[in-house]
Amino acid sequence: MPSLVETLNVFEPISFRYSGGSLGVKNVPASTCTYNCVYCPNSRTKMITLNRRSWYEMDTILESVAKKQAQARVLGRAIDHVTFIPDGEPTLDANLEQEIEILRAVGIKTSIVTNVSLIDRSDVQRMLKSVDQITVKVDTINQATWQRLNRPHEQLSLPAILEALRDFSSEYGGFLDTETMLLNELNDTEEEVRGLAEYLRELHPRTATILLPTSPPSGAWVRGPSAKRMALAYMAFEQCGLKWWVTV
Ligand code: SF4
Repeated sequence: MPSLVETLNVFEPISFRYSGGSLGVKNVPASTCTYNCVYCPNSRTKMITLNRRSWYEMDTILESVAKKQAQARVLGRAIDHVTFIPDGEPTLDANLEQEIEILRAVGIKTSIVTNVSLIDRSDVQRMLKSVDQITVKVDTINQATWQRLNRPHEQLSLPAILEALRDFSSEYGGFLDTETMLLNELNDTEEEVRGLAEYLRELHPRTATILLPTSPPSGAWVRGPSAKRMALAYMAFEQCGLKWWVTV
């Protein structure tokens, strides 16, 4: 079993999103996910699973974070925030709730970037409610597009995910942001982006980021949208009152 110490990354560029120094934690092995997205920068998902389990020894977390904090102090920086952002789906980590509790106990806030595919599970919802900031990936609300774009585990249900996320967002007390990867001829039609923007509006996100694909994605044919389609997406997000921006 690899140690989480080896997987901790210090000074991840994700810190630009937050006010303080943010430490990235890869709490599941690379390419372990509930999805196999065509645009995944990690190449194809090696293990597509819905089984939440303990991937790494948990008792090393506090020590590891403390060590990284000490290193940061030497460089004149402070770490006050940990983001669970593995090259896979972080909610597959069955220890996550406990890890968050440990970090919270020493005054560290937490964030997570998740595809929310397991959000219809009560244990995942309970865990996510204890996270300070959640970035949820929602690329589409269309079943056929979801199958083609996110290539989910066969036991997942998009309607169940969307409904559970809507319910969750109405109760969640932290900061919720959304991310949507926009792809040419996959989810960039007017109907798609309007439907998605209307759904995202119901989540009341703090921000709604539109992502454009970078190379090399797992699907070599994956392309970003045309300028015209991008404009359609911007308009749809704008009309739904979403505070949006674009990131590559
Ligand atoms: S959800 Fe993220 S990690 Fe999983 S396959 Fe999609 S892009 Fe890759």
